[in-house]
Formats: sequence, structure tokens, C-alpha cells
Amino acid sequence: MLLGTAATGGFPRWNCACALCAAARDGKLPARTVECAAVTGNSRDWWLLNTSPDLRVQLAGTGALWPGPRPSPLRGVLLTDAEPDHLAGLGVLRTAPGLTVYAAPPVLTALTPARTALARYATWEWRDSTPQEGFVLSGGLVVTAHPVAAGPPGYLPARSGGGHWATAYRIEDLGTGGVLFYAPRLHSWTAELEELVADADGAVLDAAHCPTEPLESSAWREPRRVLTRLEDPDPLLDPASAARARLTEVGIEVLPDGTEFVL
Ligand SMILES: [Zn+2]
Repeated sequence: MLLGTAATGGFPRWNCACALCAAARDGKLPARTVECAAVTGNSRDWWLLNTSPDLRVQLAGTGALWPGPRPSPLRGVLLTDAEPDHLAGLGVLRTAPGLTVYAAPPVLTALTPARTALARYATWEWRDSTPQEGFVLSGGLVVTAHPVAAGPPGYLPARSGGGHWATAYRIEDLGTGGVLFYAPRLHSWTAELEELVADADGAVLDAAHCPTEPLESSAWREPRRVLTRLEDPDPLLDPASAARARLTEVGIEVLPDGTEFVL
């Protein structure tokens, strides 16, 4: 489920008056909240991929994530990095007991002060997302984390440790065998990334760094490729733009917030 698909500031961007943002304010272009997604293997246990500053609105607008027999179907969060746009929603969730949050070791370390503060509200479990063999989520999803080239977040010194500050997730549904690859923040496109995407049934990728040619390594089978983190004023925000038409030709999708797809 794509909960949000915009880069920092959302779309329309709160502090921008460009033609695209003005059109979105007039309802002529689809508005987008900040990038965030949710996955499930059984329609009962849901896991968030990052937590955006718009999380409260995203949860309120998504019936599958409403409380039902249990207080919430949310079981936890998989963080791809320590960017503010991916952490902001943790504050929204802070009173929810029993969540499990996965992140790479440098991210877990950077979050130490936030974890101390959050622990005052509810007990959460924080786990390393990077064991070689991966990990299993309730609902029947098997996850492996894959480092992608990107530095530490802007609020830390540029030389903050080596380590992998950003990861992408490969998520396999044990029931269907379907594989999702989620990589909302990339720095460059690599052969390894291409292989991971080619091996998936669907991939959600950073709009700024996704190549728009057919994948060389998957000539026999094209996985669904969906772009996220669309950054104003990217012409792709306008469904009638020439840029969107070109993408559609090569089979790359730009989908509205709230789109659910099954793999
Ligand atoms: Zn704008």
C-alpha cells in the first residue's frame, strides 16, 4: 500500500507557489503526502516502511490500518535510513505499545536519544535489520536489507562513521512467493540494484535515481516499477506531462497515494 509518494514537504509543497503546486492546491493535480508505505502478508498484520511526517493523515485515510478487534493492525516499522522524513511519524506512534522497529546499526545508534525519549511512552523493540539471513515478520513476510550508497543524514557530520546509512528492503511473501523491492532513497544506480529489481515482482524506487530504460538483466520478464519520492517541481507530478507519457511507454508507473497492489 502506497501511503505517501512525495519528497520533503509533500505536494503541493507547503512553502512553494510554483505552477505545479498552485494547480495541486486548485485540485487540478493529485496532491501527495510524504513518502511512506505499508506491507502485509495476511491482511491482518501490517508493517510500515518508514514513518512520514504525514503519518497520522495517512493512517486515518487507510481503512485497512484502522483499529478493529485489536487496537491497531500495525506491528512495527522498517526504517530505510535516519532521514527526518522517515522518522517523523515515530512520534505519532509513540503511545502504541509493543511495536518492533527494524533499522541498520548506524541508524539505531543515531536514534539513541529518540529511543530514550520514546521509551517513556511505550515499550518498543529495536532490532538490527541487516542480518545476512534476513528476518521474518508476523503475517508471513521474509525480509532482507540491502545497503545502498548514501551518506549520513544532514543533521549529522558528513564523516559520521562508515557503515551503511541507507538500505533498501527485499520483502517476500511466503504465501504467494511474491517479492517487493522497496528503495525510496538511492544515491546512484548499481548493477547490484538492477539485479535485485530484476529478481522482484514489483519495485518501488526513488524517482530521482531510477533509470528509465528497460532492465538489461530481465529481458524475459519485466517487474513492475513504481516511482516514489516525487520531488516538486518534477514534471512527473503532472499526469498530462510529456515526461509521464515517456515513462508510461517504458512501463514505469507513477501511482497516486493510497494505491494498493498485490504481488
Ligand atoms: Zn512547487
